[in-house]
Amino acid sequence: MRIPFLDLNAHHAPLRVELDAAIAQVIDRSAFAGGPFVAAFETEFATYCRARYAVGLGNGTDALWLTLLALGVGPGDEVITSPSTFIATAEAISFCGAQPVFVDIDEVTYTLDAKLIEAAITPRTKAIIPVHLFGQCADLDPILDLARRRNLPVVEDACQAHGAEYKGHRAGSLGVAGCFSFYPGKNLGAFGEAGAVVTNDEALKNRIQVLRDHGQAKKYYHSCVGWNARMDGIQAAVLSVKLKHLDAANARRREHATEYGDLLADCQEIVLPVELNHNHHVYHIFAVRVPDRDRVLQALSELGIACGIHYPVPLHLQEAYRFLGHARGAFPVAERCADKFLSLPMYPELAAVQVREVAAALKQTIRVAREVEYAHAD
Ligand SMILES: *Cc1c(COP(=O)(O)O)cnc(C)c1O
Repeated sequence: MRIPFLDLNAHHAPLRVELDAAIAQVIDRSAFAGGPFVAAFETEFATYCRARYAVGLGNGTDALWLTLLALGVGPGDEVITSPSTFIATAEAISFCGAQPVFVDIDEVTYTLDAKLIEAAITPRTKAIIPVHLFGQCADLDPILDLARRRNLPVVEDACQAHGAEYKGHRAGSLGVAGCFSFYPGKNLGAFGEAGAVVTNDEALKNRIQVLRDHGQAKKYYHSCVGWNARMDGIQAAVLSVKLKHLDAANARRREHATEYGDLLADCQEIVLPVELNHNHHVYHIFAVRVPDRDRVLQALSELGIACGIHYPVPLHLQEAYRFLGHARGAFPVAERCADKFLSLPMYPELAAVQVREVAAALKQTIRVAREVEYAHAD
């Protein structure tokens, strides 16, 4: 049995009639760039996140970038974030002309280690971006406390955490802004590129709305230099349909995570994801840590099981950020994790039998490696 890492067709098939109708409506009204479908989705998504406002954008990278621009982040500034994330988090900082300042992650949740942040704050620090990696929120209370004391805004990178919760609050609703990506493979995915910012701050919402539309609040009157970062009408209409099914889809992911956990618990070499008590993890990625990761990945691939690595190289060791001057060892937890992370197939429509097959294959692969090792030790 071939088991894909992700199966979008399986997710869309039962929604296909509804999705086709939604797209047809946008075509009938020629509401392609921004417009009423985007406005409707913004209201729905803000409500879903329990935030006052949402601003629909072109993608998640735009959401991070325009939020930082709207907060006044610019050349010479520093923004604190995690090295264990997709590069977009740091790119958004760089495209403001600012510098990403990395802080190592916590080895249990793989999110920013709140204890290490204060030491990284300088007079140039302008914001903190915790990343809710894999679908679990960073430990926001100590981060928000510190930020309040130091008068810094917290921007949540919630691009992997649609519907996740921290102490009963939805991801994205606790910082000054929460940034989301609707890249097709995300828990809430469009039929192309899309993103959004949610916020309770009306002035910030207004600034992002102006920035996403060439710096204009009124057509052809440009109050500042902005950009084109609008959401497509078709993407908004698709997202409105899919949003209604997000909680059910996340619930399925959580069931698979529980099942993986039960099946893999007796293999001591595997480090399982840990959901902290106050968190509601939505398992965008189900990442385990395994010894000899690359060999395990290859062996599973030969069995027809597609896994991933999120991410093989932490940002401070990427060529793009070599100019920051970090050597191996600078952020040891992020590095240790990157060497062992293995993402198992995870999507709502995964069948129980597939979860069992992946778990059995993973354990068998590790057992074989263990026996080879013992044989060598003799
Ligand atoms: C996907 C993602 C982004 C970027 O979103 P795009 O829509 O691809 O631009 C940013 N941060 C994280 C953590 C992501 O996973």
